[in-house]
Amino acid sequence: MKTLRDYLIEAEERKIAVGHFNISDSEGFKAVVESAQELGVPVIVGVSEGERDFIGIEEVAALVKVEKGKGFPVFLNADHTYSFEKVKKAIDSGFDSVIFDGAKLSLEDNIKITKECVEYRNSKDPSVLVEAEMGYIGQSSKMLDEVPEGVSLETQTKPEEAKRFVKETGIDLFAPSVGNIHGIVKSGEPDLNISLIKEIATAVIIPLVLHGASGNSDEDIKKAIEAGIRIVHINTEIRVAYKEGVEEGVKGEEVAPYKFMAEGLEEMKKVIKNKLKLFNNIA
Ligand SMILES: [Zn+2]
Repeated sequence: MKTLRDYLIEAEERKIAVGHFNISDSEGFKAVVESAQELGVPVIVGVSEGERDFIGIEEVAALVKVEKGKGFPVFLNADHTYSFEKVKKAIDSGFDSVIFDGAKLSLEDNIKITKECVEYRNSKDPSVLVEAEMGYIGQSSKMLDEVPEGVSLETQTKPEEAKRFVKETGIDLFAPSVGNIHGIVKSGEPDLNISLIKEIATAVIIPLVLHGASGNSDEDIKKAIEAGIRIVHINTEIRVAYKEGVEEGVKGEEVAPYKFMAEGLEEMKKVIKNKLKLFNNIA
């Protein structure tokens, strides 16, 4: 079976991106997997520290293993992980990729801990991909009244620093700050810095990951993929769709969870399938 690394090489050749969708329960998992299967594309299931605590780290790893066993290209990513210990735990649990998030640390500390993660991966399982990020883009996946404090043009990733960071750490995937923001800004999201994406892609060579793509326009995401983005993260838009669907589902007398939750699942799938079509260039 092809690995995530194989699919990313293919994405680079075809100038498309692999979709990464966050989940925190089995309904979210089902929505992501069914959407990808219906379109016949690979997909990454993401779980942040909070999300993996809720669903269970071993449990989510087992769910993904079942899909892989059936021959479906479903991969598992430990999204935003803030300590070496938790990165280690995810690698030990069989995740396909891990993100050490040291964006809030000094560049030196970020490099130091990221290197520890890469070294551990090398010793434990070289097939696991390690991602790291530079440049703060906020931390919450919800509807926001304004751009989070600490996010500005100043905090966007500098190509020269990115190049040094990637070279010194030996990471496989790089998440830059290019006008993207975690969460959705209600009044509208700032535009992505497409020319900066191109500069960083040329500087670092390895695949780039766009975080916080909820709320960005299809047109902007398309340009970002053309410029070199190979994984796109969506979380907030699925959360909003899920909640709206479940609210509809619980309105009547229905008490069977698989019936009232199904509406949430359908709403999530609509969002996920639209995004997957966009990322994979499917008409
Ligand atoms: Zn993120």
